Amino acid sequence: MSKLAILGGPRSVTLPQADMFNWPIVNKAMEDGVLDVLRTGNMSGTDITKKFEQKFADWHGVKYGLAHNTGTSAIHSAFYGMGIGKGDEVISPSITYWATCLCVLSLGARVVFCDVNPDTICMDPEDIEKRITKRTKAICVVHYMGMPADMDAIMDIAKRHKLKVFEDVSHAHGGLYKGQLVGTFGDVAGFSLMSGKSFAIGEGGIMITNDRDIYERAIIFGHYERHCKVTNPDLKAAAGVPWGGYKYRMHQMSSVVGMEQLKKYPAEMQEIDKAMNYFWDLLEGVPGIRAHRPAKGTNSTMGGWYGFRGLYRPEELEGLSVERFVDAVLAEGSSCCVGCNSALHQHPVFNTVDVYNEGYPTNQAGIPAEEAPRQDQADLPVSDMIQTRVYGIPWFKHFRKDIIEEHAAAFRKVAENYKDLLPGDTKPEKTSGQWGLTARKN
Ligand SMILES: *Cc1c(COP(=O)(O)O)cnc(C)c1O
Repeated sequence: MSKLAILGGPRSVTLPQADMFNWPIVNKAMEDGVLDVLRTGNMSGTDITKKFEQKFADWHGVKYGLAHNTGTSAIHSAFYGMGIGKGDEVISPSITYWATCLCVLSLGARVVFCDVNPDTICMDPEDIEKRITKRTKAICVVHYMGMPADMDAIMDIAKRHKLKVFEDVSHAHGGLYKGQLVGTFGDVAGFSLMSGKSFAIGEGGIMITNDRDIYERAIIFGHYERHCKVTNPDLKAAAGVPWGGYKYRMHQMSSVVGMEQLKKYPAEMQEIDKAMNYFWDLLEGVPGIRAHRPAKGTNSTMGGWYGFRGLYRPEELEGLSVERFVDAVLAEGSSCCVGCNSALHQHPVFNTVDVYNEGYPTNQAGIPAEEAPRQDQADLPVSDMIQTRVYGIPWFKHFRKDIIEEHAAAFRKVAENYKDLLPGDTKPEKTSGQWGLTARKN
């Protein structure tokens, strides 16, 4: 076995990577479509957008799609659509991007965090029930980094406690849970479609639901130009201006890209899925390393593998820190980064910040302090330690065996030679994640 590159040995990754990691993949039809929107001055229209959202909803076998200018706004509309308001509580996993649940604060409601399962990094159903109070209205599910959450258990809890379920599918477009598309289990789902995501159309987001009431409430909230579609008399009576005061319309340069993306996404997803599974298959059984993907034979899939992580088991490598492991993989010429999204329950905005000058922390939602304990003192042990047990891995866009084999060899080489890394391991005091995952090269 050759010497590790970080200690002066040869690098594992030597082949030119070409467009292996380029994203998004833009084709001629997308370019032509955007130019056409520009030349006809159709940027602020909704004709293409309406076709796009209907096709997106059809893909999911769901009645209504409502396109938005961002994933963040699609999620905001979804919570408003479910009727989340003053003094309500929403249960969200702590390990996710802030846009999953932060908008709940602007509705006067409160986020209560639950822990994640260390193997799926999705919300732990057993922990959800502990967080339910008389104020709980909804569970906010995230299919984190492509991994389908445990929907059987979550839907069972929701049914028993009569809670609404929102699914954030920003990481898992096209992913299956036991053969069924994620985003079709709960009452409503929201997707980010921004350029970094696996279903990438530029800035954009979409909300899908079978519930006419949620759909109409979302329209009344941030889509004033569609108020004429509203049939609910209570909403109709005050139509004309958006109740939320927001304008959430999708830009048609994005929706025209979306129309083309719908055509090519299944093939792209299939190629990525094949490439990523090949990478993990090559690393099967390597100490310290575990794949973050659904078990085989469950008919669950990762969709487009956005943000995908590897699970790290330092106890199998005599406690080698994830930082040292990642540095060594980087030196081999592969791509890797430490951790994942930081635990939201530790952020001041969910604990002490008075966003709206109400005289109390916004996430207290006007509830007496003893009934609205601070989230950073809650017991979420997995969320607090998960950064030491995950790392980012390369996101292959093409099934090119020779390149994938070199990257897998880099991870294997580092894990199998871990003893050489122990002397230089300074073990940082605290392994931190990131509030937002900024664009990285691979
Ligand atoms: C990206 C993302 C969002 C927000 O989407 P934008 O399109 O960036 O507004 C929401 N939730 C998760 C989990 C995300 O990763």
